[in-house]
Amino acid sequence: PNSGQPGAGSGDNMPDTSLRPKRMDEMVGQRDVMERLKIAIEAAQKRGEPLGHILFDGPPGLGKTTFATVIPAEMGTVVQMANGAGLKAPKDLLPYLTNLSEGSVLFIDEIHRVPKAVEEYLYTAMEDFRIDIVLGEGVSARTLNYELRPFTLIGATTRAGMLSAPLRDRFQIREHLGWYTDTELCEIVRRNSIKLNMPIDDDSAAVIAGRSRRTPRLANNRLLWVRDYSQSKADGKVTGPIATAALDMIGIDVLGLDKQDRGYLDTLMRVFVGGPAGLEAIAHTMNVSGDTLEDEVEPFLLRSELIVRTRRGRMMTAKGYAHMKQTPPKRPL
Ligand code: ADP
Repeated sequence: PNSGQPGAGSGDNMPDTSLRPKRMDEMVGQRDVMERLKIAIEAAQKRGEPLGHILFDGPPGLGKTTFATVIPAEMGTVVQMANGAGLKAPKDLLPYLTNLSEGSVLFIDEIHRVPKAVEEYLYTAMEDFRIDIVLGEGVSARTLNYELRPFTLIGATTRAGMLSAPLRDRFQIREHLGWYTDTELCEIVRRNSIKLNMPIDDDSAAVIAGRSRRTPRLANNRLLWVRDYSQSKADGKVTGPIATAALDMIGIDVLGLDKQDRGYLDTLMRVFVGGPAGLEAIAHTMNVSGDTLEDEVEPFLLRSELIVRTRRGRMMTAKGYAHMKQTPPKRPL
């Protein structure tokens, strides 16, 4: 889904790992979540027990993976990283479980993609720190109980609703990560510009933050692109107008929408005459997956009230038309 340009595309996975906070106090925003986690960590440490399992949900790029790396750092333990899409069969999960050291963390990103057969292993692993492996088949089959070291599972998902109740209920701590405020994003941009040895003024930080769809990952990617642009076009100097020109050049508009976001609105307006249109129909027309649209494009368009979801499908709003500088079609009353 990436347009191939640096900083463009809402699913951009440019390497911004160098900008990822390593400790909790380097993180900006999500104050309530942070407060609760600190309490849980402290209490677990006082009791000398592993921290309860934690589930994070929310749109991409808001800090789920970051939390999954800073929490073990706070606890002085290690983390193994897995992805739900890669855990296709129980044998894919076993190495992670048997590798666990006492009190360590297993992070499973996109945990809603773990298939049922694997999920069932997670139940006993999470609840009793034990897995039952069936060896052999038929009459000669026997079950081997394997004790695990007590550990903490951290799950992340963009689709909390897709998690089965038995899995969801096994997480003691469940936290939703929401969008960042402009002020918080400005702070992230400012801090990271210093990390990149390119301190920028408030104006430029505001332009970048304002065009980042309330998402730290996007703010970082936009910042990296502005840095490239300024080094090539302005001797490394960044001002508000330079940041604006840089982002205009890769098709990021004043709301922070990128080409894919506007492509969505354009498809809905032009091909489906403003809707209602089904997600899959829009996805087919744009030649991207419905999941990508639902995870990465629609949440911000919905939140900005540029589209609405109705029972009959997605529809443009008057605000959506205005943003795209089009007039809504006259509808029969
Ligand atoms: P998710 O796992 O939710 O998709 P990530 O944790 O990978 O999102 O976050 C993407 C990037 O955004 C991180 O690499 C980090 O640099 C930045 N980031 C996320 N949350 C914060 C935060 N609270 N403070 C500062 N930077 C953040």
